[in-house]
Amino acid sequence: MSKFSQPWNVVFFTGFVLYLGIRGKFARQVKRNELTIRQVDALEKALLVFTIAGSTLPVVLYLFTSWLGFADYRLPTSAPWCGAFVMLVALWLFWRSHADLGLNWSVTLEIRKEHQLITHGIYRSIRHPMYAAIWLWCLAQALLLENRFAGWAALVTFAPMYFLRVPREEQMMCEVFGQEYRDYMARTGRLLPRLGGSADA
Ligand code: SAH
Repeated sequence: MSKFSQPWNVVFFTGFVLYLGIRGKFARQVKRNELTIRQVDALEKALLVFTIAGSTLPVVLYLFTSWLGFADYRLPTSAPWCGAFVMLVALWLFWRSHADLGLNWSVTLEIRKEHQLITHGIYRSIRHPMYAAIWLWCLAQALLLENRFAGWAALVTFAPMYFLRVPREEQMMCEVFGQEYRDYMARTGRLLPRLGGSADA
């Protein structure tokens, strides 16, 4: 039986196409802004390949083949409803953070020729809204797909990427923007607004 006879798989797949569409649109725009710093070492390359392949391959196998059928399981009926809601929030945040970061976005650790430090919009109170959106996306995937591998793949592969990349990204931003970024760090949180912090500072 086709996996697309399950409505929640169709919901997930539609969201996945939108997610890739948002990425594709901004990836094309950002090409106009040349790179000046590229901190892509072996660890960064390995993390990128591991995260992209590890999160998409199980989904493709689950939706288009029966190879992962042995890992199918049932989730509580409320799970996919929550998953669909989380997915909508994730897509909104993903789009918003791309829109606010504009021509400064990179899929990896890079600084562009006309790089500007963005501290407005969704970046006003959190430093990593795009990664927050990806966390939410990973959670939505786990709540929507009734398969142990495909459902949890994105969470498991994004976690090492997040924890290893963020300190390196913040260090790069401190090296390039100095005190301006350190001040920005002091008044913002990584994924959630800083408690008691002033967003106006
Ligand atoms: N960590 C951010 C951005 C992810 S894209 C988020 O989760 O929203 C990664 C690239 O964005 C980095 O290579 C860096 O060049 C750039 N970047 C990160 N924070 C930025 C900021 N506040 N302003 C401008 N560029 C930023």
